[in-house]
Amino acid sequence: MELGFFDGEFISLDEAKVRLEDRGYQFGDGIYEATHVYNGTCFALPRHLARCRRSLRELRIPITYMDEELTAIHQDIIKKSGIKDGAIYYQITRGTAPRTHYFPEHVVPHLSMTIRESKPNTEWQENGIHCTLVEDIRWLRCDIKSLNLLGNVLAKQAAHDKGVQGTIQFRKDQNLITEGSSSNFYIVKDGIIWTHPLNHYILKGVTRSILMEEIIPKLGLTVVEKAFSPEFAMSADEAFVTSTSLEVTPVVNIDGHTIGQGAPGKITQSLLTEYHRLVRQECYA
Ligand code: PMP
Repeated sequence: MELGFFDGEFISLDEAKVRLEDRGYQFGDGIYEATHVYNGTCFALPRHLARCRRSLRELRIPITYMDEELTAIHQDIIKKSGIKDGAIYYQITRGTAPRTHYFPEHVVPHLSMTIRESKPNTEWQENGIHCTLVEDIRWLRCDIKSLNLLGNVLAKQAAHDKGVQGTIQFRKDQNLITEGSSSNFYIVKDGIIWTHPLNHYILKGVTRSILMEEIIPKLGLTVVEKAFSPEFAMSADEAFVTSTSLEVTPVVNIDGHTIGQGAPGKITQSLLTEYHRLVRQECYA
């Protein structure tokens, strides 16, 4: 059963709790995390909590929830909901105060959380997805997982409008691909994996970190963290996206151009297999 949480209380999702002057509501002044639950266990939670802390620090939102407390709330919401396979979303906003742009004094951040049934799309993982390419019009702090997602929303809607499953964004002034609308993007060319370096143009995906730190070294693969053009991506042997919900999902077509053989590539498949092994190790032990 889907379930919500607001400032210390478990609530049903349709119980109105947002204050009219919550800065998250009025300014998008807050941050969020999205995690996946497998077999009743939240995968890679410490990495998400570390990124959450960094996002809060970058926005100068006081940290009022310790990792231990957030971990306990995650465990509680999973248990109370009875959900075994699901998606948890939580956000922390700066707080509620009369609307002024500068940070208000004496406000306390709000935490809200939801859990819903969800499973990765295995059909997409087996067959790959088609993507469209759009200009990256987002702000210059894409490294912060802030609530301001209109750029991402418009990017994702472009895919929906074109009847494809995903969006890849590129910075027009540089002609360089950054990332997906809610995923990191990679290509494989001549056996080498390419992905955008970590800077203010992309989010440091938890799935990306697991690939870079645990999976790629284990498989003995080579990766370069270097930005590349849309044309270079079209000429790739393989392409894929990663995120908490997509895990590792092959991209087989970009704007009508077939990538490689038009089917999930061998390196992409080996990364997904290894990712599933880590999930089993952590959540099905
Ligand atoms: N980039 C963006 C813009 C995202 O929204 C997401 C998903 N939250 C990601 C990358 C992937 O991050 P993660 O692997 O932590 O889900």
